[in-house]
Amino acid sequence: MTDLSVWRKVGMSDTNLVREFFRTLIGEEGLRVIEGIPDGEITDEELAKITDMKLTSVRKVLYALYEKRIAEYRTERDDESGWITYWWKIDISKVRHIIENDIQHRIEEIRRQLTRERRGMFYQCKCRRITFEEAASLNFWCDLCGSQFEYKDNTKEIKELEEEIASLEQWMRRLRGE
Ligand SMILES: [Zn+2]
Repeated sequence: MTDLSVWRKVGMSDTNLVREFFRTLIGEEGLRVIEGIPDGEITDEELAKITDMKLTSVRKVLYALYEKRIAEYRTERDDESGWITYWWKIDISKVRHIIENDIQHRIEEIRRQLTRERRGMFYQCKCRRITFEEAASLNFWCDLCGSQFEYKDNTKEIKELEEEIASLEQWMRRLRGE
């Protein structure tokens, strides 16, 4: 059983859910790094030893975390050898912001799709689905597959998008502990 104490610092009530959600963002190796990293600073070499991962994998994860502003580093140069050491530390509390942003982003994107579906009329041939305007401009005939564009009811598509939004909103509420 994994020690989930690190995830408590995220400040969301359901730590298991936070972990699962974060896995979808950063992957299994990302979780291993975050759960293996001690408080304070650590070098990538040490972290590779602790987590029993390849140095290249650890570095990949660290830079991914760096891009998401969860990890930061400072460098130290050995004057004699010229060797540069990277000291890494992570700020797990940023995860909350990232998760909330990510969900919000997805909800907005789906809402835009939903608006398009609700406003538009859609036509379908054997190879693609296009709007009424596009189909009309092609005289309802698809050159690509050589078939007719026919009106396609999009009630199902609309329902699916609505369900997706509802499920993401539920995620958000559960993560916040509401
Ligand atoms: Zn076609």
